[in-house]
Formats: sequence, C-alpha cells, structure tokens
Amino acid sequence: MTKQREIAWIPQPKSIRWLPGQFSWDGVEALVISESGDDRLLTWARALREELAGRLGRKLAIRTTPAVEPGVWLAATADSDVSSVQLDLPESPEGYVLQITPTMLALAARRPAGLYYGLQTLHQLLADMADESPNLPAVHITDWPDLSLRGIHLDLKGAMAPFEYWREVIRTLAHYKINALLIEYEDKFPYERHSDIVSPGALTQGQVAELVELAREHCIEVIPLVQCLGHVEYVLRHERYASLREAGELSQYCPLEPGAATLFREMADEVIAAHPYSRYFHLGADETWILGQCPRCREAVARKGKLGLYMDYVVPAIEYVSSQGKTPIIWDDMVWRTPDPDRVSQLPPETVMCDWFYHITEPEVPYFLWGDETDMSRRWISRRWREIDPTVIPANARPLEELPEAG
Ligand SMILES: [Zn+2]
Repeated sequence: MTKQREIAWIPQPKSIRWLPGQFSWDGVEALVISESGDDRLLTWARALREELAGRLGRKLAIRTTPAVEPGVWLAATADSDVSSVQLDLPESPEGYVLQITPTMLALAARRPAGLYYGLQTLHQLLADMADESPNLPAVHITDWPDLSLRGIHLDLKGAMAPFEYWREVIRTLAHYKINALLIEYEDKFPYERHSDIVSPGALTQGQVAELVELAREHCIEVIPLVQCLGHVEYVLRHERYASLREAGELSQYCPLEPGAATLFREMADEVIAAHPYSRYFHLGADETWILGQCPRCREAVARKGKLGLYMDYVVPAIEYVSSQGKTPIIWDDMVWRTPDPDRVSQLPPETVMCDWFYHITEPEVPYFLWGDETDMSRRWISRRWREIDPTVIPANARPLEELPEAG
C-alpha cells in the first residue's frame, strides 16, 4: 500500500513520489558514502548515524567506497553491494535525489552541497517518524533550489546574544537550506588594530573562526559586512576617531577626510583575513544622509553633486575590496535616490548592487542579492531603478526579472 503522508517540508522539495512499502533497518550494518575528497561527507554521515542510533538502539558503521560518476552519494542497505545505485540527478549543483525502496536508502548528488541538502530532507522525514518505528516510507524525491544564493542578514549591533545562540542559528538555517549569511559585525568583531571600538560582548578571534568553520561545514557562505561610510556610530562615538566625523556627527565619516578611507581599509583587512572561504565582501554604503554638511563637502557637492561626492569616496573603497580578491557588494539605495547616469557608470563592473528595500513581498522579486557568478562583468539591476528612472540603468545591466534560476 502506498502511504501518503502530510509532511511539513521546509522548503518543499520539487518532486515527491511515494512508493509502495517501507525501508527497514533490519540487517543494515553501515552507512556507505562515496569517496569525494571532501571531509564534510564523513561529518554529515556521523550526524545521521547519531540521529539513527537513538531510534535503532545501535550504532551503524560508516564505510566509504570509490565514487561513481557523476557525483557523491550515501546509501544504506542490508545488501552489501551498493554499486548498482543509479539515480537520475538534476542538473543543479545543489540538486539531489533521495530514493527509499524496501531494500535500499540511496541519496545522490552532483556536489557535496547537494548531498547535504538531501540529508536535510532525510532529517525532516526522520523527524516526522519521531513517534513511530524507525522504518521509512518508500519514496522518490528529486529536488533542487530555485536560487543559487539564499541568504539571511544578521545585524550584530546592539545587545549581543550568547555564542551558542549563533552556533544554533547556523545549524538551524542550514537545516532549512539557507546557504549564505550576511554578517554585519559592527563592534562585535575582534579588531586588533582598532581594539578600542570592540564591544565587551564581541566575539573572540577563536569564536569568529569557529563560526566561519561551522558555516562551511553546513554549506553556508559567510559574507562579512563592514560599513565604509555611513552607519559608523560604533566607531565615531570614540574620541580617538572624532576627526573623521562628518560635521561633528557620529553617523557618518567625512568622505574628504583621508583617515576615513584608511580606517575602512584597515578594518576590512582584518575581516577579510578572518573569512578565507568568502567570495563576497559587503561595504554597506547605504543611508549616507548627511553627505555635504561640512564646509569642504558642501563645496564638493556644489561642484559634482551628492552622488559625485559619494562615488569619489565609495568607488576606491570598492576597488580596494576587489584588489583583495573579494567581489564587492553595496546596498543600492544611495544610487537610486540620486539617479545620475554618468556617476552610476563610475561603479566598477564587478560591483554587486544589493537591493536595500524592506517590505518587498511580491513573489516575483524575492531576491536578496544578485550577480552572475561566472561572469562578474554582468550586473543585475534593482527594479527600483527601473521604477524611478529607467535612464540610469547602465548599458551592461540586465533587469532582475531575467535572473536565471540556480544551476
Ligand atoms: Zn565632510
């Protein structure tokens, strides 16, 4: 009999086909994983073994066997021969197939990340079995993500949660297949060169390293964010940096004060060094409301406009991040607030414009961030730019609606 189940999958897999029968763990002695050169597979298999141990009352062995093209896999069967596992894999690098029959549990993917997401689906299926026998209903699941970058923004300003909370955040988000974490550290990063801005509740260097490693283990890319111009109250409230204040205000650096750019680069250096796996670095650069208040900046705005003053400061900061091997990201609001095609074209082509807007719930614009990972000379444009003034769209940018699906 085919058992139809109502499982609250998060997110919903693309295809679920229930099959007759159940998979029993009787006679299963080991989880078999393919050799992949990726040490995370063993970590993930151990986590599955721990979860199963409580249900089975025994601990399975873990064996590795040579990889079978085109991917990586995990299997469990009473039959010792798993070489016959043949699954039709989706093209997406994060896609997977989970096939459970009465005689075998097999999970396969093209890449380790796909295997990881298949395991999360298996964990959700197991959780649904919590009060029942450890047997699993036979099912064939094929799945892949719609978006290649699925991110959450963590803003560490204000009160700081205990370290264990952040570890749990990473584990929980990864379970729901989030694969990017934008961390705005503010004063919670353990800056060495500028230790006076470090909050008493800040993470230690060891804790940052542990979070970054934990994220890698859970297929999450950490994208660090260090504000380069505005939202720097956590720096400017200290007297040591008073000379960098715009017109005496705490919220923003004076872009004509050379010490501001130097300070940003020094902070970026430390943060970049702490994130060896990150492809991206976010410079913030949003809501720089008080541009042009001090006498020098007022004179500059009169000459080249607010966006001119902004670009002449922000562009070198972007170029510095690029020179350190990271793809730069900025919020896009200051650009669309002051549409000026000539100034917009100053942005280096590798710049990723990140949609700043809150409250966007329309299903057609769910994107957190966009950029062509294989060709960084192509940028995707915020729909806000189109609404406000289509003429500011750079010639090489494409509308967000044409963003390709993951894979
Ligand atoms: Zn100024």
